[in-house]
This record gives sequence, C-alpha cells and structure tokens, in this order.
Amino acid sequence: MTVVAVAARSTGTQPRLHIDLDAVAANTRLFAGRAGGEVMAVVKADGFGHGAAAVARTALAHGATRLGVTSLAEAFALRADGLDAPVLSWLNPVDADWQAAQLANIDVAVPSLDHLRAVAEAGPGSRVHLHLDVDMARDGAAPGDWPALCAAATRFERGGRIRVAGIMGHLGRADDPKHAANAAARARFGWALEVARAAGLCPADRHLSATAATLTDPRTHHTMCRIGAGLVGIDPSRTTALRPALTLTAPVITIRAAQPGTAVGYGHTWVADRPTTLALLPLGYADGLPLMASGRGDVLLAGRRCPLVGRISMDMTVVDVGELPVAAGDLATVFGPGDAGEPTVRDWASWADTIEHEIVTGLGSRLHHTTTGTPLRNQP
Ligand SMILES: *Cc1c(COP(=O)(O)O)cnc(C)c1O
Repeated sequence: MTVVAVAARSTGTQPRLHIDLDAVAANTRLFAGRAGGEVMAVVKADGFGHGAAAVARTALAHGATRLGVTSLAEAFALRADGLDAPVLSWLNPVDADWQAAQLANIDVAVPSLDHLRAVAEAGPGSRVHLHLDVDMARDGAAPGDWPALCAAATRFERGGRIRVAGIMGHLGRADDPKHAANAAARARFGWALEVARAAGLCPADRHLSATAATLTDPRTHHTMCRIGAGLVGIDPSRTTALRPALTLTAPVITIRAAQPGTAVGYGHTWVADRPTTLALLPLGYADGLPLMASGRGDVLLAGRRCPLVGRISMDMTVVDVGELPVAAGDLATVFGPGDAGEPTVRDWASWADTIEHEIVTGLGSRLHHTTTGTPLRNQP
C-alpha cells in the first residue's frame, strides 16, 4: 500500500525529488532474504541522499535489525529522530566524544590502538567493533597492528572498560567478485578472527560484506551484512535487479524558438544548426546535476528523451525539445526508475563518468523533497 506521507506544498512549480520508500522496503527484503545473518542498514550521508531517518525506519520495518553510519554526529542524529535500534559508527577522530556515544548506546568501531585506549578511558562497558583493514590501506587497523590491537582489547575487556561486540572489515574489490584480491581479503579476515579468538575475544558480530559482496559471495556474509547502496537500488556488482528509489522532476519555466546560429549558455558550447525549440528547466549543478553531463545527457519531456544543450549552469539547464508540443509548466523527468522511459541515475552517472553513489549523495539541499510509501509495515 502506498501512502503520501509528505506532500504539503504544491510541487508542480519547483524541482522535486521524490523518494519511494516502497522501493527501499523491497530492496531491504531482498537483502534480508539473501543475508546469512543480520542486515545492518547503512544510512550514512543522509541515507545516500534519500533521508537517513526515513530509510532507517523503512529498512528496520522490512528485515534490517541494525543501523550503520560513519560519524558519531550521524548516529546522534538518528537517536534525536527517535530511532532506538542498535547503531554502529565507524569513522571518528581519536578524541571523539566516546562518552556521549556510550550514553546514547552507540557501538563504535576502532581502527587503531589509540582509538581503543580513548574509548576504554571513556568506558566502562563501551561496545566496540575492532576494524581490520583487509585490503584498501584506508580505514581499519593494518594487519601488522592487529595482534597488538586484539591483545589490548582483551586486557580492556577483562578490566571491564569495553565489550568487544564485533570484528569488521570492508572489501576493496567486491564489485569485481572474480578478482583474486577478494579471496586474499576473505582469508585475511578469517585470519583476523582466529587471532582475536586466540587472544581470548569472542565477538558475536563478525561482518565483512557490503552490497556487492552480499549479492555475489555468501562466504563474506559471516554474522551480518552491511547494506547501504543496495537499499536505495544501487548494485555495484551489476548482478541483481534492485529498485531505484529516487525520481527527480522539474517544470519547464519558459519555451523559446531558436534559429540556426543561436548559441546556448555560458561559453556558447552548443549552437543550433536548424530551427528548433528550447525549454528552460530551473535546476543545475547546485542541485546536483553534474556539469560533466552537459551536452551528453537528456531528460524525459512530452514522453520523449530530449537532449541537454549548452553547459549546465548553477541553477538552470536548457533542453532541445525540437518539434514536441511542450509548454511552460510541463514537467520534465530528469531521472527515475526508468519505468516511463526516463533516464536513470545510472544513465546520469555514465554521462558524468562517475558512479551512481556520487549522483545520489550529491543532490542539492534546496530540492523540494516528497515521499511515498510508509516506513512501517502495517501502518494504514
Ligand atoms: C559505506 C559502507 C558500507 C556500505 O557499502 P555499500 O556498498 O553502499 O552497501 C559498508 N561498510 C562500510 C565500512 C562502509 O563505509
């Protein structure tokens, strides 16, 4: 059942970002069915631009049991929004407010001995996940530091300062499941679990996979899968049909006839070579349309794909509508799930030589948001 949850203002008059929580619900159910253990809904970066609290509530109602974010600020925001599910925050400076995290009942990941000591000082009883860098030289402890991190964690746990609730890693090449790096990373994670066990730790949560590995390799699932992109319909492994959750529309502001020789936009990068009609849309790179898509992308208008012409500006974009019967006030679909032939976020990503994640997390805050779908399973 679909419920219009937020549609307060008239929405035909401005660019509108529509979030379909039924899509998030369906995607979550798919992952809950695939995961061997629990599903953690990763709602960092405002739920990948879809609204952290709404995505979190929806995911929790459809099979996710935990929430994951990067910073403590994001975790506190979830608590302030009334979400009381278990939350893990994994990316914080060593002098973060660990005490506040503990008071808010937030699990924290530690990537270093310094982090572990700081959390233990703020204890007692802080719940930590030891984070191993399996293959990206990025977040998490280097394998060479792992035995010492486990040994220290055991001491702090026995002293009552912390509880080691979990061990985590994150794969660098999961979007290419056949690559040999995946086997090496899986083995490194297995080794890390052994080292932890030998040090006297027995964490209940052991988690390595995100969206791509969850869909392609059950050997990475362990006790929990951390799913972010997949919840909002992005599959980096390109193996599974997920449902995109965003639709971006904009009304035509004005229509103008253009003669051959008419130059469009900054730099006059496009010049009409025939008589045509141009439509102006009131959104641009400040709203998240990548400048790189200038002259490459299109939108759906009057049922047809119409090319973007000239350079995308900060606040506006020009579309060549040719002979189509388009009038001011008509609605263009910039992207959506593709059901009506409109471009998708994946199309925009390819026009901009980027990934879907960057498009959805880069949408501007001035877009008017509307939502359909209820976050709760049995709500009318
Ligand atoms: C972002 C992130 C995830 C989620 O990854 P997706 O591919 O978006 O599912 C999981 N774990 C960590 C550590 C992350 O940073």
